[in-house]
Amino acid sequence: MAANSNPFAATGTWVRCALHAHTTRSDGELSPEELVSHYERADFDVLAITDHWVRTEAHSTDRLLVIPSSELSCLLPGEADGHLLAFGIDEDPLDFVRTAPDLAAASAWVGEHGGVAYLAHPYWTGAPASGLSLGDGVAGLEVYNAGCELEVGRGLSTVHWDDLLERGGRYFGIATDDSHHADFDSDFAWVWARVAERSRAAVLDALATGSFYSSTGPLVHELRVEDGSVEVLCSPCQRVTLCTGRRRGSSVSAGRFGYRYAGEILSEANEEEITHARLEWPAGSLYGRLELVDSYGRKAWTNPLWT
Ligand SMILES: [Zn+2]
Ligand SMILES: [Zn+2]
Repeated sequence: MAANSNPFAATGTWVRCALHAHTTRSDGELSPEELVSHYERADFDVLAITDHWVRTEAHSTDRLLVIPSSELSCLLPGEADGHLLAFGIDEDPLDFVRTAPDLAAASAWVGEHGGVAYLAHPYWTGAPASGLSLGDGVAGLEVYNAGCELEVGRGLSTVHWDDLLERGGRYFGIATDDSHHADFDSDFAWVWARVAERSRAAVLDALATGSFYSSTGPLVHELRVEDGSVEVLCSPCQRVTLCTGRRRGSSVSAGRFGYRYAGEILSEANEEEITHARLEWPAGSLYGRLELVDSYGRKAWTNPLWT
């Protein structure tokens, strides 16, 4: 379980992170060096290479910080085959993965080896949306996996996330490419992390404490929490929603006939796009997280803030 962290109330630099990508060391098309060049040219600041079962090293460049990582296989409760992203581990996990660990053992191994663990693509995996347990060693899950969406329409795992949060879990949500065929399945989903410095340790700390938000397009410029409401400033969006649990929340949609539910639009880029909104935070809510959707249907997800 993680600490509460609001990156919008902190100082530091925003870095754009690609956190799930494969190379020829597992089932990806590009060599590690080619993948680094690819993400550097695509304007990323951080790349976690996450080959299945192995830890892949590659040199960082002036622009792109590489974090050797891996995607472990493990058994989820109910014997489902799960994938666990292991960011920043200091040892190759192959021998460990061959022991067929469960989720608790795999996340413990990641922690013991200096890493941060996130559950990959629970919807695609077929993990139960209700009653899934992650334990204390997992920082969060992939709220969106572009590859799983592009291939079989199972990229979005907000139901899994909200179910964990409703039961009091403190978990963060990352958005990733899960790229195997760079160019065709890359630059679709990323994390904006707020860090004190561009270093491996600072990025891992941001992932461990939730100092980031996830996006497939929209930018979140500011998020201010006030008594009973949240104010957000963003790139032009069609809808902004505060998700605060079962049957609760608030939302505003742009446009003359846009529906507004317990919220108001404070500023618009034009008649169809919001850039500043205030949303009411229902009393008694355990957590609140924001979702933004732009005119192209691209989304952003902030991490939950807990009351
Ligand atoms: Zn996977
Ligand atoms: Zn993968």
